Amino acid sequence: MNIIFLGPPGAGKGTQAQLICQKLGIPQISTGDMLRAAIANQTETGLKAKSFMDAGQLVPDEVVIAIVKERLQAEDCKAGYILDGFPRTVAQAVALGGIADIQAVVNIAVADEALVKRLSGRRVCPVCGAPYSVERLAGQTQCAVDGATLIQRDDDKPETVLGRLTVYHQKTAPLIDFYRKEGKLLDIDGDQDAQAVTAAILTALEAK
Ligand code: AMP
Ligand code: ZN
Repeated sequence: MNIIFLGPPGAGKGTQAQLICQKLGIPQISTGDMLRAAIANQTETGLKAKSFMDAGQLVPDEVVIAIVKERLQAEDCKAGYILDGFPRTVAQAVALGGIADIQAVVNIAVADEALVKRLSGRRVCPVCGAPYSVERLAGQTQCAVDGATLIQRDDDKPETVLGRLTVYHQKTAPLIDFYRKEGKLLDIDGDQDAQAVTAAILTALEAK
């Protein structure tokens, strides 16, 4: 199955996409991760993307669409995939419609107040990318997988978080109706603990 994970920043898209991908044995295609890797490797794409990402703005459509187009041609996408963080604009959704057959769009909804709290409290491992929350870490500063010192993403700093939510409401939220009209939307309540969200997603996908 070719699936899209939709939702505001901080809704748990990445965490859930990773879990469901492992369960279904299909790749997770995260444009955010691909862009961060491009920046780390100082590629041409990375150079184009960096200033937008640091500011909490969307990277231009043509840059992101090109990355996804190339990635979807890889052999491991033949049996299905989860797109995590793409599309984020109607233009991206239209471009995707021309190159892929999407069966389901998982929409993880979380109220804005909860998102601000989650994003500001998010820490990530710079080595393996595992996400953590300050609340759960209870003072711990190292990754449980590889011992690396956890960091806060630049775009999770308080001054950027509100801007990212505004961008989500303006540019990405219209995709909810876009895919509802296509009959592909699966509404998931993201305001529950992570395990309950995973279970709800699996149930919704099975019914599809
Ligand atoms: P994420 O890790 O999904 O939260 O993405 C981090 C940042 O990468 C976003 O705030 C954007 O600047 C950029 N980005 C990721 N995916 C897209 C996309 N589909 N379109 C435009 N920008 C994106
Ligand atoms: Zn790690």
